[in-house]
Amino acid sequence: MEVKGAKITKLAIMGGTFDPIHIGHLVTAEEVRHEFNIDEVIFVPTGHPPHKSNINMTTSEHRYLMTVLATAANASFKVSRLEIDREGVTYTIDTIKELKRMYGEEVRLYFITGADAIHKILTWKESEKLLQLCEFVAVTRPGHNKNELLWQIDELKRRYQTNIHFLEVPALAISSSNIRERIHHMKTIKYLVPEEVENYIKKYNLYEYRICLTPQEREHMCQYVSSKMSPKRYAHTRGVIEMALELAKIYQLDYDEVFIAALFHDVAKELPVQEKIALCQKYAVELDAFEALHMELAHGKLGAALLENEWGIYKSAVLDSIKYHTVGRLGMGDLEKVIYLADMTEEGRSPYKGKEQIKNLALYDLNRAMYKALSSSYNYVTNILKEEIHPITYELMAEYKPYDSK
Ligand code: NAP
Repeated sequence: MEVKGAKITKLAIMGGTFDPIHIGHLVTAEEVRHEFNIDEVIFVPTGHPPHKSNINMTTSEHRYLMTVLATAANASFKVSRLEIDREGVTYTIDTIKELKRMYGEEVRLYFITGADAIHKILTWKESEKLLQLCEFVAVTRPGHNKNELLWQIDELKRRYQTNIHFLEVPALAISSSNIRERIHHMKTIKYLVPEEVENYIKKYNLYEYRICLTPQEREHMCQYVSSKMSPKRYAHTRGVIEMALELAKIYQLDYDEVFIAALFHDVAKELPVQEKIALCQKYAVELDAFEALHMELAHGKLGAALLENEWGIYKSAVLDSIKYHTVGRLGMGDLEKVIYLADMTEEGRSPYKGKEQIKNLALYDLNRAMYKALSSSYNYVTNILKEEIHPITYELMAEYKPYDSK
């Protein structure tokens, strides 16, 4: 990598695992940039640090891309692949030497890192040389024992004639482990990481959590759902739960995920239209053109929005199975198919031609059952109700048709 543009005389290096990067890191980097009049802050996600096993670490590519997304809006921030692309164990001294080569020997380097690193600095590779080549900025989060750190800094400065700075950053009350923990416990991380990073984490299901409901939570959810619907609709919901859990055993799906998806699939179905419209606005629910004209189809997306925003559950497989149980979508996962089929075949649903066949097929081939279910819906809407059907149905029937002739 060659360095282009205006001459850089002061460069700060923000080294860390960034698993994931959060607002605390960004505030820290900006604070250092301002405090020390830095030209550029370069974020260097770690590769294979010497003191850690990589077993539980998110892949370097994910950590790198999240760092890129988080820093893109600040012209003074850059991200380097130096460490993640380096083979073997990565040592800070090698990174610093490489940056000196790239930016010129005269560039003044500041290495920003957590205060804990300072306590261990003398165990790092070529630590004395490192202390000569760059100045350290030790940042602490609230609650850190400052006195001990300041004593340590004085000691290092005296012994190695080096410059070590200390900065207390209140925003570092946030930590990566805390973010991971929050995701694990299905708590929101909104405003703790940049929105782009939040979306990236969701998209790739990083820090994947398992929903684990207590009997009380399950009961509480049931009360909430039943309060939103008539006894008849709730009886249907219980039927969907029963059928979906039967399918969950066959297809080895997570019990709590299936339970929640089935429980919430119709939670918004009987809400008055005005309330549906208001909720769409409140939770920025995007309806397609057909759904906007047929508000009776909006309850899938609305149900998912209620579960996400009022219950803080954002497991995408669960939300998608609620969102798309009305008309389906291309490339549905097993949980989505299970909810779709359980909705069509639960015991209490009035009998219709083909119901038993779809139910029996669902027990051993979800795709064949999907084709029959879609054909049945198509027939019911277009030939019996004589209404317009959602255009996705044609594409879905084409997607599942090959399974029918197997
Ligand atoms: P880490 O495991 O990611 O972090 C340890 C603690 O320090 C965490 O509480 C972390 O908070 C905080 N922290 C780390 N970097 C930070 C930063 N730049 N700004 C604010 N807080 C930060 O990181 P680490 O293992 O201590 O490594 C930090 C840097 O030191 C990396 O660049 C690493 O390569 C380098 N290092 C080099 C050697 C060596 O060369 N021998 C040995 C150890 C470390 P969060 O969890 O919230 O990030």
